[in-house]
Amino acid sequence: MTALNEATHNVDVVVVGAGFAGLSAAHDLVDKGYSVVVLEGRDRVGGRVFTGEVAGVKVDLGGTWVSHRHTAIREVAEQVGGTTVPQFTEGRSTLWLAGKRSTYKGTIPKLSPAALVNMGRIQLALDKMAKTIDVDAPWNSPRAQELDAISLEEWLDRKRARWTTRAMMTIITKVEWGCQPSDVSLLHVLRTIRAFGGFDFMLDAEGGMQESRYVETTQAIAVRYAALLGDRVHTNAPVRRITEDGDGVTVETDSLQVNARYAIVTTATEHRGGIEFEPALSEPAQGLTNSWRLGALSKAFVAYDKPFWRADGLSGEAVTDTGTVFITFDVSPSPDGPGILMAFCDPRVFDTHASEVRKAQVVKQLIDLFGPQAARPIDYIDHCWGTDSFAPGGPNPAVAPYASVRYGSVMTEPHGRVHWAGTETAGEWTGSMNGAVLSGRRVSSEVARLLLVTDTHDRKKALA
Ligand SMILES: Cc1cc2nc3c(=O)[nH]c(=O)nc-3n(C[C@H](O)[C@H](O)[C@H](O)COP(=O)(O)OP(=O)(O)OC[C@H]3O[C@@H](n4cnc5c(N)ncnc54)[C@H](O)[C@@H]3O)c2cc1C
Repeated sequence: MTALNEATHNVDVVVVGAGFAGLSAAHDLVDKGYSVVVLEGRDRVGGRVFTGEVAGVKVDLGGTWVSHRHTAIREVAEQVGGTTVPQFTEGRSTLWLAGKRSTYKGTIPKLSPAALVNMGRIQLALDKMAKTIDVDAPWNSPRAQELDAISLEEWLDRKRARWTTRAMMTIITKVEWGCQPSDVSLLHVLRTIRAFGGFDFMLDAEGGMQESRYVETTQAIAVRYAALLGDRVHTNAPVRRITEDGDGVTVETDSLQVNARYAIVTTATEHRGGIEFEPALSEPAQGLTNSWRLGALSKAFVAYDKPFWRADGLSGEAVTDTGTVFITFDVSPSPDGPGILMAFCDPRVFDTHASEVRKAQVVKQLIDLFGPQAARPIDYIDHCWGTDSFAPGGPNPAVAPYASVRYGSVMTEPHGRVHWAGTETAGEWTGSMNGAVLSGRRVSSEVARLLLVTDTHDRKKALA
């Protein structure tokens, strides 16, 4: 990867963003013989995957897990030598609801029969509705208008969800969409459930979305993948402006200009708004950028000498409706230590505090969940995605009611010579690293087809 230099580049395609979508699009186009430049606004590649270190162990501050069905991201990882390890699930899970702690084996928490029946009914209804959603174009699904007109919370009200069901759905909403159930449209929730292979698959570790993670970390995969592109990738290059004339596009950063035949923008939908387009984006395309805003999510890692909870028969997996932390997982590299607990934290009560306050909040909750030994951490790290200075946000957009039907259909509609990718634009697996890679592949085929048509036309003209 190169640092920025004063220069003008002339290439076939300029790719904006060096997350998995941008890197995949660039690779595919280079493989097809086209010249490519990738411009990344951050000082690193990877986007929503980012490596941190705690007690000498590399950890995923952003995107982490892959399932056996995530074949696209796995192919990328295989190409650069990534090794998966299964998510640790042995032992009992911990549940903390309304101040009461319980532990349970398997996937069904220890709740009253009435609570379990209510939760099962809600889950079944969501799964049934999700099956009717067109994952590529949810806005065209039967009853799309109706499903997009209410929030998840309103729907839970109508279905008479009990407080336990609401508590669990709030936790799921915070981790999947980085918001509250009142902030997200039912249609968008159903699309994600469909895209993530159903409710159970979305939540499961064994055999599901949280099945395994990479020893090297996911950003290390992105870094290696970017390295194969060599000096085509420029970091510290936030794109400010994209101008189109009849024959191509000019893409400008603060100190670099790229003239290309096509541009591919792979930022999250919200961050398209950070670029000035000439001609300007259509009203619906601007509406998309304004309304498909990323939710927020924070992650903390607390390291101990040993994974002490395992000796107590606990898996380290916990779900709680109280306080800052709402889900934990054991991501220890070995039973001998260090023991590492990963905690998803609620940005609204976490991000504004100083680091030592955040650490104290997390450790206090881990003591409640796993006992007094949790009071003696040897190291700590966290990352608040919502407060990133560039391209802030969480894993997925918190798409509010009406915004899917009103603006969703323009998401992949080219703006002249500007084409779009990014995990949000994927159908199946949208919102995951796998979706990001798939979107990069889709857009590279789209643009390669156009380049081929132009090349054939030019050749015919030259021969005439
Ligand atoms: C906390 C967290 C946990 C997650 N957990 C998982 C998980 O376990 N499994 C999973 O599959 N997925 C997970 N995800 C989601 C996953 O990380 C993303 O879906 C995926 O990485 C998105 O890739 P992308 O290339 O589409 O977008 P990004 O990675 O966001 O890449 C877009 C890039 O564009 C850059 N950019 C933005 N604006 C500009 C500009 N103007 N100029 C130049 N560059 C710009 C950004 O800096 C960014 O690098 C998680 C995400 C988060 C945040």
